[in-house]
Amino acid sequence: MGDYFHSLERGNRKVAWCTSVGPAELLRSFGFEVFFPENHGALLGATRTAMDYIPEAIQRGYSGHVCSYTTADIGSYLKKESPLKSHYGMSGHPKPDLIAYNTNQCREVQDWFQFFADEFECPIVGITPPRHVDEVSQDEIDLVVKQFKNMIPVCEKVTGKKFDESEFKETVRLSKEATLLWQKVLKTSTAMNAPLSFFDGTIHMGPIVVLRGTQVAKDYYTQLLAELEENVKSNIGFLPEARTRIFWEGMPIWGKLRMLSDLFTGNGTAVVASTYCSSWVFDKFDENDPWNSTARAYTEIFINRSEKAKMKMLADWFKEFSIDGVVFHDSKTCFNNSNAKFGMPQRLQQITGVPSLVIEGDLCDLRFFSEGQSITKIETFIEQLEEMKING
Ligand code: SF4
Repeated sequence: MGDYFHSLERGNRKVAWCTSVGPAELLRSFGFEVFFPENHGALLGATRTAMDYIPEAIQRGYSGHVCSYTTADIGSYLKKESPLKSHYGMSGHPKPDLIAYNTNQCREVQDWFQFFADEFECPIVGITPPRHVDEVSQDEIDLVVKQFKNMIPVCEKVTGKKFDESEFKETVRLSKEATLLWQKVLKTSTAMNAPLSFFDGTIHMGPIVVLRGTQVAKDYYTQLLAELEENVKSNIGFLPEARTRIFWEGMPIWGKLRMLSDLFTGNGTAVVASTYCSSWVFDKFDENDPWNSTARAYTEIFINRSEKAKMKMLADWFKEFSIDGVVFHDSKTCFNNSNAKFGMPQRLQQITGVPSLVIEGDLCDLRFFSEGQSITKIETFIEQLEEMKING
């Protein structure tokens, strides 16, 4: 990750900023180094510095109730402080030559990225696919492909390089291979002695977010998968013996990963799967059909689906990972990736029989997270699940 961050400042390549589930492969095929502001937002959350910066953005008129990646990132820029400086020795946010966003995940990224396009006076392109799709039709894919292709002249102008389809195909191939390895990594925890927890996954997912389309990401997951498969073969889980298996739905609470991980493991409970880590599995990528396949993969992501499609995906994951209970994180500032607001937990329980718990919190802003209350709720939930198992 250090090498990756430093590559953004080496100055021998143009830099594009991109949303985390945006068209990174197309940008990389033009030779851009790609920076992902959401990854920076997660860094600000995990280092618990976000709350120092959010007030700066609020002063500029951003509500404290909108995406705390956005407010923390803008605030960090305004305050000229960041883990990119203190941990990686960078000069701050890497200067963009182009900014690209995709509203497949949320509308918020448009405002967030526009702020920086104005600050850096650089070109900005937006992909605005159909939202909350059920089954994705070819018409919808055609629309997204058209928008992807509209990026070509902008990228050509910024880089001075002609679009080369063979380079695009090669980047999609590398991305596909890394993402399929990541999928296998996550699936190792279908083993009853799961070798990888959701909390481990939030760290190991770094390269699939920021380095997909590179050999580095592929090599990383090849090695990780080999280690985890070895653990499965030797029956070594991250817990000696888990009594209960949990699915995490929603955003991580970045500043409380350690605390939550210890809480679950301390109660003999393994959090073995999540929608969040699975969001970077793009199994539709196909280098032989790069436009359609990338448009489809980025439009069919979990966050962009109808409730019906989401429930089906969740029910399938519950079966695959032998889930006993699901924890919904109702994130205060990310409405888009919180699925507990309109009764889905209840409807899902009716269909799957898997009990659920809703905890309130936030991805970065810990003022919305009550540690004491959450511990009580989680421990009570685990006790109930164990009793249910004992009583058959
Ligand atoms: S999906 Fe949520 S956390 Fe991510 S950028 Fe959008 S509002 Fe922020």
